[in-house]
Amino acid sequence: MQRSIGVLATGHLWAAVVDDISLGECRIYPAPGEDLDLKTLPAGDIIAKLRDQICELAKDGEIASVGAGFPGVIRGGVILESPNMGQLKGLHLADDLHQALKGCGIDVPVCALNDADALATGIAATHQSVDDLVRVWYLGNGVGFGRHPHNNGVWEAGHMVVSLDPKERFCGCGGAGHLEGIVGHRAMRLRFLDMEPEEVFAAARHNDPRAVEFVKRWHRALAAATANSIHLDGPGRFYIAGPNAEFVDVRVLGGYMHEMVKMSPLQGSHFQIVNTGHDLGLIGAAVASRSK
Ligand SMILES: [Zn+2]
Repeated sequence: MQRSIGVLATGHLWAAVVDDISLGECRIYPAPGEDLDLKTLPAGDIIAKLRDQICELAKDGEIASVGAGFPGVIRGGVILESPNMGQLKGLHLADDLHQALKGCGIDVPVCALNDADALATGIAATHQSVDDLVRVWYLGNGVGFGRHPHNNGVWEAGHMVVSLDPKERFCGCGGAGHLEGIVGHRAMRLRFLDMEPEEVFAAARHNDPRAVEFVKRWHRALAAATANSIHLDGPGRFYIAGPNAEFVDVRVLGGYMHEMVKMSPLQGSHFQIVNTGHDLGLIGAAVASRSK
C-alpha cells in the first residue's frame, strides 16, 4: 500500500496522510476558529508551516511522496500566477518544500499542482479509474477547472470566454466575457449589489424576472464552457463541486449543453454533482505525487 501526504491550500492549509486512496490523519492551519487570513501569510511562512505539519504526520510511519494542491497556474512545480494568493506568485513550491522537508530528514519526491486538478485526480481515483478522463468545475468565489490526467498547457477554463457582451466585466482577472464573471460567487455579488447570490437563486424560484433571466444566463454560461471543452477535448462526464454546486440544476444545465453540442461523435456527455469538502482534493494531491 502506498502512503503519501496530500496538501491543499484553500482557505486553510490542509495536510493529510493518504493510504492508497483513503484519507488518514489530517492537520489544519490555522485551527478552526483561529482568526488568520492565509492571504496575509508570507510564502516562506506557508512553506515552514507545511513542513511542520508534514513532519508531524510522518512520525507515525514512512511516507513515499508529497503532493501539494495550490490555487493558480502551476508549471514545473512553480506557481506562475495566483490571483487569490498574490504572495505566492513566483514561488518554487515543489523545490522549496522539498528542501524544507530535507531539513527535518524527509527526502521524498514533492510535486505541486493546481488545486482543481488535484480534485479531478481525487475524483478519478475514488469514483472512476485513474486511467479515465475526468473534468470538474469547482464553483466557489471563482470558478476552477480541474482535469485528470494532467496535461501540459494552461487550462484556465474558468476564464473561458462565454459572452461577447463588452459589459460582462465581473471576472476577478479583469478579462471581458469570462465564465467566472457570470458564474463566480464574487462576480455575482458585484452584479447584484443589493442581493446575495443565495437570494438571487431564491428570487428566481419565486419568478422574479431579473433573477430568472440571470439564473438562465448562469446555467447557459456553464453549459457553454462545458461545450467548449467538449469541442476541444471530447465528450465525457463533467463533475461539479464546490459550495455553489448547490445552485446547479443538472437537468437545465444538460439541456443547454445539448443545444450547444450537435456533432454525433461528441455526444454522450453528462453532469454529476460531487459532494466534497477537502477530502477528494487531498486524496488527489497525494495520488498525483505518486506518478511523478
Ligand atoms: Zn477571468
